[in-house]
Amino acid sequence: RVKEEGKNSLQFFTFEMNELISRKSKIAMSIRKGLELGEFSVHYQPQIDIETEKIIGVEALVRWNHSKLGVISPAEFIPIAEENGMILYIGEFVLRTACQQNKNWQDAGVEPFRVAVNMSAKQFSQSNIAEVITRALKDADLAPEFLELELTESIIQKATAAISKMHELKKMGIHLSIDDFGTGYSSLSYLKLFPIDTLKIDQHFTRNIHSDAKDAALVDTIIQMARNLELNVIAEGVETVEQLAFLKNKRCHQAQGYYFHKPLMPEQIEELYLKI
Ligand code: C2E
Ligand code: MG
Ligand code: MG
Ligand code: MG
Repeated sequence: RVKEEGKNSLQFFTFEMNELISRKSKIAMSIRKGLELGEFSVHYQPQIDIETEKIIGVEALVRWNHSKLGVISPAEFIPIAEENGMILYIGEFVLRTACQQNKNWQDAGVEPFRVAVNMSAKQFSQSNIAEVITRALKDADLAPEFLELELTESIIQKATAAISKMHELKKMGIHLSIDDFGTGYSSLSYLKLFPIDTLKIDQHFTRNIHSDAKDAALVDTIIQMARNLELNVIAEGVETVEQLAFLKNKRCHQAQGYYFHKPLMPEQIEELYLKI
């Protein structure tokens, strides 16, 4: 009888525990297993040259189909992975997958383009990050000029270490861009100090080009500033023909967004390319 009760209360306790564990800690605790089980994959969103409307690159975006929770957005799990350090493993998985995939496209006869990989500040601050990247390129047999790293303004907090790493990567031939430009808190002087190639205008600015005169002014100003600094500039989150017309008129170089393509599976990129 005592034994029975003990068993029941243990079951009860376990059930309650489960209910109490928040979605956030469930996510945090299942990243490692998810990676082992192959629940993570990478999708690719084309980046378009506004003049020629040709694909000039793709951005690698991680996807997670969790066995119990279903599809989880990177906007939800990336910050959690940054907190518990698992971002290093997710980041390396995406980097290696993207390099290998880009090489596969090239082998399939697709005209070579760059693949852009998002890099969290924590990942970039690893002391051996240059080796991790070099190894990913070597293992995939991909030339460095076909890799771009998207950094956010948050890496500027670790400026001294970051600058020398950026120079090292630049010397290898890797392209560097600043993602979500204008949303972080940083001084413009880093544009002069950091060896970057591209500014990515955050999608929140693009979204309101036609509803908010101030956002339109900001987008215009970022484009002209990038051009004056001889940086490449790409607008994210382009959804309408009107937004595209505005960007073209302001001589923005490139665009990325649902107006052209959503993030696609690797086969879809290949099909798309062979159709053109
Ligand atoms: P991000 O790097 O700024 O990526 C752009 C996000 O905007 C992607 O969301 C993309 O699917 C979405 N997007 C693209 N075009 C449009 C559009 O026209 N309209 C709208 N509304 N959205 C558009 P996603 O894939 O959900 O990723 C969200 C964020 O998660 C990324 O923002 C990035 O910060 C992070 N992330 C994704 N993959 C990785 C990764 O492999 N590593 C790291 N560190 N972060 C990642
Ligand atoms: Mg990005
Ligand atoms: Mg962005
Ligand atoms: Mg973002």
